[in-house]
Amino acid sequence: MTQVIDLRSDTITKPSREMLLAAMSAEVGDDCYGEDPTVKKLENYCAELFKKEMAMFMPTGTMSNQIAVASLTNQGDEVICDASYHINFFESSQTAVLCKVALNTIHTDNGVITVKDLEAAIDRKARFGDLYAQPKLLLLENSISTHGGKVFPLKVLSELKQYCDAKSIKVYMDGARLLNACTAKKIEPSEYAKHVDGLSICFAKGLSAPFGSVLIGPKEMFSKAKKLRKWFGGALHQSGYMAAMALYALKNNMSLLEEDNKNASLFSTYLIKINALSLFPTETNFVMFDVTRLGVTADHFVNEARKNHLLMLAWQERIVRVVFHNGISQEDVIRAAGIVSNICNEILKRKKA
Ligand SMILES: *Cc1c(COP(=O)(O)O)cnc(C)c1O
Repeated sequence: MTQVIDLRSDTITKPSREMLLAAMSAEVGDDCYGEDPTVKKLENYCAELFKKEMAMFMPTGTMSNQIAVASLTNQGDEVICDASYHINFFESSQTAVLCKVALNTIHTDNGVITVKDLEAAIDRKARFGDLYAQPKLLLLENSISTHGGKVFPLKVLSELKQYCDAKSIKVYMDGARLLNACTAKKIEPSEYAKHVDGLSICFAKGLSAPFGSVLIGPKEMFSKAKKLRKWFGGALHQSGYMAAMALYALKNNMSLLEEDNKNASLFSTYLIKINALSLFPTETNFVMFDVTRLGVTADHFVNEARKNHLLMLAWQERIVRVVFHNGISQEDVIRAAGIVSNICNEILKRKKA
């Protein structure tokens, strides 16, 4: 039987035997009483890795995002972000209902918000003192999912932070795949953290843990964040088993991210030769391409690939997403590229006929 190559997401990764053994041998306690030593170990490790005061283990990246937004704002405040970011693309309802803030979205070409974009977003609305929504938080994403895993440039980030500090606007980074970005650009995680107030990363993506995220930032953010984690039902008891796997991932699996980035880069060298596809620049572990010129939808393309034992995601109407992750070999990359190429040829042949 032909083996399926599953490139839908890096969230499909599973823990290795060693990671499971780390969980099995973890020392645990009730984290709601602050008595789980492994959770504390993970939180301290993350705070040190990012050179921030505190870290808090969370069940998911979505919960980290929601709690960060609610902790860094008051109800009715305005949060500025790019329209393509996860917080708007997937979490706009949650943000409205749980955080009760207003999103002011910017439509950039590549997800990189500049000071000029931010200034325009602030100035395009009448503010009239504090009678109406006031911008209190800038939310950034890194790597930028909807723009093919683009890395948010450090220089732009530092300019934004300077601007925001002067305007008393907090900066938060949704860094679900920040470590992919750090690996690709050889930038220390703390270099990014220096220019944000709060940030989060996910363990259940390329790092291949089965569970979790961590929210990182200054101590003052956590009085509210800790309460909200309880309110949202995310305060866990013996979460040390999960924390042990996350810690294992941070200490041992960074090299997997490098492999994933390399595989994406290799895959894109094949796809760039296909004229009918328009490829997003590949910077991390994503490859994204637009199928408009083939005259088909992303759904159609993905269905064709499925028939050939290749799984990809129809991200938007005309955009297909491919994500490289642990367990994908170089041979898989080459086979997958061949399948994509054959599908393009078939579609073009049928069009001519
Ligand atoms: C995956 C992801 C999240 C959410 O993480 P979950 O753990 O699935 O809730 C948030 N932001 C970005 C950019 C992501 O890719």
